[in-house]
Amino acid sequence: MSLSLPEEAARRRTFAIISHPDAGKTTLTENLLLAGGAIRLAGQVAARGERRRTSSDWMKIERDRGISVSASVMTFEHEGNMFNLLDTPGHEDFSEDTYRTLTAADSAIMVLDAAKGIEPQTLKLFEVCRLRDIPIITFVNKMDREAQDPFDILEEVQEKLALDVAPLYWPAASGNRFAGMKDLRTGEFCLFKKLAADSKEHPDAAERIKMDGSNSLADRVDPSVLEELELTAELAADGLPEFDHQSYLEGHMTPVIFGSALRHFGVHELLSAIGEFAPPPRPQKAEVKGNEKVIERDDKQVTGFIFKIQANMDPNHRDRVGFFRISSGEFKRGMKLKTSSGKLLNVHNPMMFLAQDREIADQAYPGDVIGIPNHGALRVGDALSESGDVKFAGIPNFAPELLRRARVKDPMKQKHLKKALESLAEEGVTQLFRPSIGSDMIVGAVGALQFEVMKERVAAEYGLEVEFETAPYNVARWISGDADKLDAFMDKNKSQSGTDLDGDPVYLGKDSWDANYTMDKNPDLRFTTTKERL
Ligand code: GDP
Repeated sequence: MSLSLPEEAARRRTFAIISHPDAGKTTLTENLLLAGGAIRLAGQVAARGERRRTSSDWMKIERDRGISVSASVMTFEHEGNMFNLLDTPGHEDFSEDTYRTLTAADSAIMVLDAAKGIEPQTLKLFEVCRLRDIPIITFVNKMDREAQDPFDILEEVQEKLALDVAPLYWPAASGNRFAGMKDLRTGEFCLFKKLAADSKEHPDAAERIKMDGSNSLADRVDPSVLEELELTAELAADGLPEFDHQSYLEGHMTPVIFGSALRHFGVHELLSAIGEFAPPPRPQKAEVKGNEKVIERDDKQVTGFIFKIQANMDPNHRDRVGFFRISSGEFKRGMKLKTSSGKLLNVHNPMMFLAQDREIADQAYPGDVIGIPNHGALRVGDALSESGDVKFAGIPNFAPELLRRARVKDPMKQKHLKKALESLAEEGVTQLFRPSIGSDMIVGAVGALQFEVMKERVAAEYGLEVEFETAPYNVARWISGDADKLDAFMDKNKSQSGTDLDGDPVYLGKDSWDANYTMDKNPDLRFTTTKERL
C-alpha cells in the first residue's frame, strides 16, 4: 500500500554524525547500516571503499592519509522509518564542506569516545549544529574499553556545550567489566553480549532482562557490577534531568545512549531513538516572489536545494552530480525543475544512494537526497522548484584563509587548467578568483590539505601537472554596495580586485593590515567573508 505525501515525509529522518577523528564514526556508520539491514556484513563499507579507490586515483589521498574527503548519503529503512545518513568528511580542512552538509541534515548524532569525552573537532562541529539549531543525540562509544566515569562525561558535555544532558540509558561499568546498560525509561537491563569484533553474529537489539530482583539477571551479570549500577543509576535518575522531547527539538537538551559500535552494542537502541525522537524534515524559510514564506514538508510543490556538487565520481564519464535535498513535495522521476535564476532541468536520471550502490530514484520525498547529473547548470546553494520562483536563504561561501597562484607546468595547457579549476571550484570545495589585471588564476582554500587534494585530482582527472605557488594576495573579501561606488572602487583598485567564479566582485588584499586599511577607507562598501547565494 502506498503512503501519502504527509505520511512519507513524516517518516523521514535525515541526519549526520559529528565526531572527532577516531571516536568511531566510520564504525558506527557501518553498524547503523547493518542494523538497518542496508548491508549484510560489517566491513562492506570499507570493501566498497577499496573498490572505489582502485577505480579513482585521487582517492589515494583518502587512503594514504586515512581521511575521508567526499561527503555522500546513504539511505535505509528501519522499523517503518526511512533514514538518510549524510556522511560528513572528518578532517578539519574540509569543515566548509561539512558545514554545508549539515545544512541538509535535520538532526545529528554526536559520537564521543568514552575515554576522551569532548575533543576539539567535536566542539567545532557542535558549534555549527548550534548555529542551525540542529538537535543532537549523544552516543558515548567504546564502553568496552576503560571509560571515564559516566557522570564526568555528562558533566563535560553540560559544561563545554551548555546543553542539558538526559541519559536514556545508564551503563553498567566499562572495559572488561562492561555488562550492558539499564533502560532508564522501562527499567529493563540491556545485556552486553561479548562478541568478537570480527564476529559474523550481529544481534538485532540487545537482549532485555527485567530488573525486578529475580535471579535471571544475577545469574548472568557480575553481582558487584549490578550493585554499582543500581546505585549510580539511581543517582543519575535523581540528579540529572528527565528527557524532555521539546527541549531536545529546540537544541537545549541531548539524550544520551552508551554503547560500543565495534561490538554492535547500543546501535539498535540508537537507531530506535532517532526514529522515535529525531525530527522529520523541518520547515524551511524561503523567499517566494519577493515575499517571505515558510515552506512546509507537506506543501505540494517540489522544492529543495543543492548542498553539494561532486564532479568526476565516475572518472570514465566525467560526470557531475548535484546533491539535492528535498524540502517539500513528492518528487517523481522525469520532473522538470527550475533554479531561481530560471535554468530549467529535466530530471531524467535522479540517483539514490544506497549503502552498496546507486539506483535510479523513481520517487523521492522531503528529507531525501537525490543526485542530479548535470553539466554545470547547478551550483552549491541553488534552490530548485517546479515554479522556479523559490529562493532559500543560501548556503554561504566562506572567504578562504589561504590563497595560491595556480601554474601549469606546460604553458600550452593553460586553457585546460582553467577548465579543470573552474569545474573543481563549482563543487564548492575551493574558490577560484581572477584578478582584474593579468591572467593569473588564484585558488582559495580553507586548509592547506585542499591544495594537495586539488593537485592530485587535477592530475588524475585532467592529466595536468599543476603547482600552487605563493600568491601576491593573502586576503579575499566579497564586495557589495551601491553599483556606482562599487564600479569606482574596482576601477581605482585594479591591482587589488577581481572576480569569483560567478563573476561577482572580490577584493584581494596583500595581508590583513592592507585589508583593514582598505575597508576603513571605503565605509560605503561592504566587505564580507561569506557570500550568501540566493
Ligand atoms: P572515525 O575516525 O571516527 O571514523 O573512527 P573509526 O570508526 O575509524 O574508529 C577508530 C578506531 O576505534 C578503530 O580502530 C575502531 O576499530 C575503533 N573503535 C570504534 N568503535 C569502537 C568501540 O566501540 N570499541 C572499541 N574498543 N574500539 C572501537
